[in-house]
Amino acid sequence: MFAQAIARIDGDPHEGDEVRVLDPRGNFLGRGFYSPKSAIPVRILSRDASDALTGEFFAHRLRDAATWRRSLLGLPGADTDGFRLVHAEGDGLPGLIVDQYADVLAVQFLTIGMKRRAPEILEALVAATGAASIVEVASARHQKLEGFEVREGLVAGRPIERLTFRERNFEFDLPAPGATGAAGQKTGYYFDQRETRAVSEQLAAGRTVLDLYSYAGGFGLACARGGAKHVISVDSSALAIDCGVQAANRAGVSERVEWIRGDARRVMNQFDVDERRFDFVVLDPPKLASTARDLEEARGQYRKINAAAMRLVAPGGLLLSCSCSQAVTGGDFVRTLSISARDVRRDLTVLRWLGQPPDHPVPSAFPEGRYLKCVLARVH
Ligand code: SAH
Repeated sequence: MFAQAIARIDGDPHEGDEVRVLDPRGNFLGRGFYSPKSAIPVRILSRDASDALTGEFFAHRLRDAATWRRSLLGLPGADTDGFRLVHAEGDGLPGLIVDQYADVLAVQFLTIGMKRRAPEILEALVAATGAASIVEVASARHQKLEGFEVREGLVAGRPIERLTFRERNFEFDLPAPGATGAAGQKTGYYFDQRETRAVSEQLAAGRTVLDLYSYAGGFGLACARGGAKHVISVDSSALAIDCGVQAANRAGVSERVEWIRGDARRVMNQFDVDERRFDFVVLDPPKLASTARDLEEARGQYRKINAAAMRLVAPGGLLLSCSCSQAVTGGDFVRTLSISARDVRRDLTVLRWLGQPPDHPVPSAFPEGRYLKCVLARVH
């Protein structure tokens, strides 16, 4: 419920309080928590008038999230025990994100109301999953918006230093939030590219691959296992590369994966100067637009990095280009790619439209929730 849509506030709700939303005639629309500082002061959690937002309510929603992932998606399963357990609106729990790493959960509170219910939510999470530990992850942007503080680290169960998990039988071992040496660094993994990594694995045989913004090498490792001739993975984070090197060793593909720590744009420019070309280029940059306001600027950046990436694709080769900026729509993104192609005088044919896997679901009334767009294209 956007601020402009609110005509009147009855009573004197404080931030984080449970409030009811009524239409102008006084009919009940739903209930949620009050975030007076946000552009969205109430996110509806329940449309059932008799459903108060108690511990039992959270227990029910969280059990549901765990149950349908298990029965429909086989998560957790033998090959994959790292995945998204709760995806905010998509699981009827706006303001809450939970990632599962085997028996460890990483939780993120995005609204002050959810943050206030942390004790009930943590208890319900342990009950729904049997998790041994829960760590809290900070989201600087939401905290600032909503006005609360987070100290990253353990909030339930036994202390841990590492997140150890499997994704499609790759074994990763990353520092846990709040672990020594991890301060200020991205901890945890990007589960939203699981299916797209699997697609790249299928395409990689016999090809040379450039994996840009690789983090721990999710795409590069998949391509190496898929039979790529040679993979170069590029990221600016030494910690991420360290974890990738370990994972490549465990997967037995390390002799075909080379790592470069550095700025992806500079590496792209240098490769262009050296006239290096690759059969398959993956471009998965961090979020470039947080809000609609940054959109113009973000489009310009996507245009530039995609043009640079296209130059490095051998004739007839493949580009997998991704955008995780929610403010950029799928149509927008492909139009930007077509402009990049024109900039570098290439033709681009889209082969596949990919995106977030089903453990990142989106309510039909909230199509913007489909934040991840991945376009697989032939460059000629
Ligand atoms: N492709 C990855 C996820 C990428 S997330 C995967 O499959 O898991 C974005 C990554 O970009 C992060 O790992 C971050 O460290 C890296 N990054 C941010 N700015 C960068 C830059 N200028 N050059 C290279 N890497 C950068």
